[in-house]
Amino acid sequence: MKAAPAAQKRLLDLAELDSVVDRLAHRRRTLPELAEIDELSTRVARLATQVIAAETEAGDLAREQSKAETDVDAVRVRAERDQKRLDSGQVSSPKDLASLQSEIASLHRRQSDLEEVVLEIMERREAADAQVTKLSAERDELAAARDGAQDRRDAAFAEIDKEAAEVRGKRTAVASDIPADLLALYDKLREQFGIGAAMLQGTRCLGCRTSLSIAEINRIKATSHDEVVRCEECRRILVRTPESGL
Ligand SMILES: [Zn+2]
Repeated sequence: MKAAPAAQKRLLDLAELDSVVDRLAHRRRTLPELAEIDELSTRVARLATQVIAAETEAGDLAREQSKAETDVDAVRVRAERDQKRLDSGQVSSPKDLASLQSEIASLHRRQSDLEEVVLEIMERREAADAQVTKLSAERDELAAARDGAQDRRDAAFAEIDKEAAEVRGKRTAVASDIPADLLALYDKLREQFGIGAAMLQGTRCLGCRTSLSIAEINRIKATSHDEVVRCEECRRILVRTPESGL
């Protein structure tokens, strides 16, 4: 393939811009915010599950407490009714009186036991409610941190994308200086190796950093400057410049 030395030299400008494009893409893929968002999202999801479990427990205890309070009320109502019968003087038989008094005493003991149960449930409920509050606060705090990281990621993306658009604009301008067949070869090599063209500096290919053999250098020396030469090591287009000394 033949191409004017000036066009070949433009390949180096193209390679430079492409390496900027690659660096920007790499920066976009490896933003520290991405890992941070992943980690925070996992923790937020785990806490959300824990909050639901704590809320379920608190709800169960609230129902349990209300049921135990209903039991206390029923016993209290029964004791009050018995006490009224006792106070009314309608029960006169000593045996019935003794039985009624014994029942009232038994109901009072039962009420006291049930009130203990209510207190115990209330304590557990308080702990469960406190757990809901604590876990919800942790979840909200982490969600806010995740949102902050997402904002920083979006700002970084916007900055990278703006720079990438500028570089692509420059690339289009540089590519228009390069003949189609040379550009097609460069693009094919870029796809294969990441870099499509490299400078020959002295006897070294800057693409693969290998020094070329004396025979190869002599062959290139003998080759006309409008002939496109390739590195025998990495197969990239070798661009001869004044720095090549060839
Ligand atoms: Zn090379």
